[in-house]
Amino acid sequence: MWSWKKLLSCALSMLCVACTHNQAVTPKNQGVQVIRNVVTEERQSQLTPDQVLNLLKEGNSRFVADMLTQRVHSEQVRLAAMGQYPKGIVLSCIDSRVPIEDVFDLGIGDIFVARVAGNFENTDILGSMEYACKVAGSKLIVVLGHEQCGAIKGAVDGVKMGNITPMLKNIQPAIQHFHNYPGIKSSKNPEFVHLVAEQNVWDTIDNIRERSPILKEMEQAGQIKIVGGMYDMNTGTVTFYDQ
Ligand SMILES: [Zn+2]
Repeated sequence: MWSWKKLLSCALSMLCVACTHNQAVTPKNQGVQVIRNVVTEERQSQLTPDQVLNLLKEGNSRFVADMLTQRVHSEQVRLAAMGQYPKGIVLSCIDSRVPIEDVFDLGIGDIFVARVAGNFENTDILGSMEYACKVAGSKLIVVLGHEQCGAIKGAVDGVKMGNITPMLKNIQPAIQHFHNYPGIKSSKNPEFVHLVAEQNVWDTIDNIRERSPILKEMEQAGQIKIVGGMYDMNTGTVTFYDQ
């Protein structure tokens, strides 16, 4: 037999479930779009690199405004099993505070994501980008850095530890770029960390063009675009370097 206390507790928890459910239809969430399908080959082929860039910009605006698209994952998973036609590829740092799909309001089948601490390129990343663009039809490459990056700070401070040492060497060219910097070259100087993070994005873009004739050719032919971006930890906003 249920005691009255148990009955009351049960009724209260049901009330809480109802309250939580009601939160999903508060005015703030009205206007949120719902997506059930995935990118098709036809849709991908119609998109231009600039259109994909605009989609990412619009998605980031929705992320910042708490208006993320609602996705019916069970239906998308089934549709995506038939093939993938992503719009672009993002090279990002591994930082847990930069959830790429959320940051651009994207979901299943929308985008390739390559991640390595410090968002630099290497042979494996370049191969992944060539696959994304040349084989799988993606139209945009975004090299996304972020403020307050631990990898950048570690490289700036000359951290040495196991395999982190050779990994951070990839960021050295960006640090060397500012060898005449008059201020303090330390992770405690936010301005210097920002400058190096930004330069690291530019260096990575240059290296992609230099070390991947396939991607360089595709870019020159207007088939793809390669752009940079910087994620602001405080606001969630991505500033694109696309000029
Ligand atoms: Zn980072």
